Amino acid sequence: MLVHTIKEVRDQVKEWKKEGLTIGLVPTMGALHEGHLSLIKKAGSCCDKVIVSAFVNPIQFGINEDFDKYPRAIEKDYKLCSENGVDILFNPDVKEMYGTNEQTNSNNFTYVTPPYFYVDKLCGASRVGHFDGVCTVVLKLFNIAQPDKAFFGEKDAQQAIIIKKMVKDLNVPVEIITCPIIRSNEGLALSSRNQYLSDEGKKEALALNKILTNINNCYLKGITNVSALKETAFSFLNNHHELEYLEFFDADDLSEKQTADNNTRVFIACRVDGIRLIDNKKLGE
Ligand code: AMP
Repeated sequence: MLVHTIKEVRDQVKEWKKEGLTIGLVPTMGALHEGHLSLIKKAGSCCDKVIVSAFVNPIQFGINEDFDKYPRAIEKDYKLCSENGVDILFNPDVKEMYGTNEQTNSNNFTYVTPPYFYVDKLCGASRVGHFDGVCTVVLKLFNIAQPDKAFFGEKDAQQAIIIKKMVKDLNVPVEIITCPIIRSNEGLALSSRNQYLSDEGKKEALALNKILTNINNCYLKGITNVSALKETAFSFLNNHHELEYLEFFDADDLSEKQTADNNTRVFIACRVDGIRLIDNKKLGE
């Protein structure tokens, strides 16, 4: 069922709750691919009913970011959802979510602001305010869909950590399940933004996974010094690449690591021919 209003979701959820059914929520921005489908399948295996949201959330985009050109494909998304047992595809417009088409900001709307420690690094450092927008929309979606469990990809590992922190700090009654990164056969982490890449760009984009895999191999051989591990990245980069960050943080609480261990996650963001891509890998796996 494709629905566009909060009321329709609420009414259906009320019925399901009366029947004692469990609900899984998969928040997305649409343009669904196999990465999203892995979350949807996981939700279907753990919950009686599955709600997928497809909403390109304006308040998590910076002013010079790609909100307007972000891919939108609701008909294809609906087909994929129907084929994969989704009970509700929730596709609200901006007015439905924020009550207005005017620009929403923290002067006119209640925002959820995650702790600075979690957002002053990685994507939060270059995308100021991004995680306020993410937490705000995710908490709204939790309140609308009232899921028992919600499913997030490790592809956006900083996001998943921040959502878990929000849920714990604000006592939100939902269990957060994280799911592994789905990659193309060549190793590129699937992303709706990969559509922006040319064929050559797609080849050059493989450098991100090569860097992470090589770092993990070095770690498995016994190198734990983070500076030494970082140095190994540069041989994979050429003039198609503009490295934004390559950082090592604790996989649970995002504290900094100078010596790598089995709870270290390596995070990379790199522009490939101008397209910003992110990837990450937990060491030792
Ligand atoms: P997005 O539509 O990009 O906001 O992503 C919606 C959800 O799908 C997030 O929890 C992402 O982490 C997850 N996701 C996106 N790409 C992948 C992928 N390649 N593998 C696993 N999960 C993914």
